[in-house]
Amino acid sequence: MIYRNISLKPYNTFGLDYKADCLVSLKTEEEAIVFFRDRQSCGEPLLIMGEGSNLLFISDFRGTVLHSAIEEINPEENDESGVILSVGAGVKWDHFVEWCVKKGYYGVENLSLIPGLVGAAPVQNIGAYGVEVKDTITRVRALDISDGSVREFSNGECLFSYRNSIFKKDLRNKFFITKVYFKLGIIPSFNLRYDLLEEEVNKAGAISLRNVRQAVINIRKRKLPDPKVYGNAGSFFKNPVLSIPEAEKIIAKYPQIPHYPDDSGGIKLAAGWLIDRCGWKGKRIGNAGVHEMQALVLVNFGNATGKEIYDLSEKIRESVLEKYGIALEREVEIIGST
Ligand SMILES: Cc1cc2nc3c(=O)[nH]c(=O)nc-3n(C[C@H](O)[C@H](O)[C@H](O)COP(=O)(O)OP(=O)(O)OC[C@H]3O[C@@H](n4cnc5c(N)ncnc54)[C@H](O)[C@@H]3O)c2cc1C
Repeated sequence: MIYRNISLKPYNTFGLDYKADCLVSLKTEEEAIVFFRDRQSCGEPLLIMGEGSNLLFISDFRGTVLHSAIEEINPEENDESGVILSVGAGVKWDHFVEWCVKKGYYGVENLSLIPGLVGAAPVQNIGAYGVEVKDTITRVRALDISDGSVREFSNGECLFSYRNSIFKKDLRNKFFITKVYFKLGIIPSFNLRYDLLEEEVNKAGAISLRNVRQAVINIRKRKLPDPKVYGNAGSFFKNPVLSIPEAEKIIAKYPQIPHYPDDSGGIKLAAGWLIDRCGWKGKRIGNAGVHEMQALVLVNFGNATGKEIYDLSEKIRESVLEKYGIALEREVEIIGST
């Protein structure tokens, strides 16, 4: 389905009313292959998009948005330890998690209630409450948008790291993900390392898949604004990862700063703490602001423009750099030009 001069308001969780010249919604892999072989009359540049829950538009998009609407979940294989599922890129991530919990499949329950579609999960290597999606993905199936050819990426080829993968770097907007393959456990196994999570599960009684999912949902609902009420894209900045000597200097000066070892060998510092200590939590400038419960989340109070939200993020970066000497990196992608 091709839409022209279409409002992107329903396609981004900041609720910004910018337009795209063209939006193509692709419902099957076959339809996508035909589209990429014969690009029809849709202009460049191309932007692949799911639900726009990790994007900030700062202008109209003068090009073609490619949207995956491939919605199917299929069991592929199973053995005594688990199952392999192939999941269409257009399935809502949280519908997939709920489906797994109902079936009794372990591995993605800590990632409950993350907005977005399954196709974006490997791009971002989504993570929450001590779990990253990379640990459940076996391969990713995608189409080369230059000619529609199919390519499958093994987990190793995806080059996953903290909120990052090859699809966000060298292959950004070059491969359209159609399916993601997950390996999930059928033997009970939980990750309750995140303190608050264990406490919340205990409130619900016994540890079970359903109770872990519900505990994650309860915590998230308390801490994060609902994009339907206040437009937002979750964490706007990444937690900075410093080398051990650099981190030790900061920790010696500010012993209260939350910090954790990172898989890369460095130390991850809590960006929310840095932003909060610069006095930004709950602050509002015009129609944009910093959420009162979570300093990492920037919100649209109703009529903000993308530029207002972007300018606020720049001010935050400047003050963290000035006070702590740390350059925060945005997790949210900026789309468009001023
Ligand atoms: C309230 C809230 C809470 C959040 N909490 C978390 C959290 O706890 N953890 C976390 O990791 N994230 C979180 N996020 C961020 C966001 O939900 C995730 O990054 C999500 O995976 C984005 O999915 P999407 O479908 O909206 O992707 P989009 O924002 O549309 O796109 C994100 C990136 O993926 C690419 N992409 C999307 N689909 C495809 C495809 N089919 N093929 C190739 N590339 C594609 C896009 O080009 C873009 O680069 C949160 C966001 C919100 C609004």
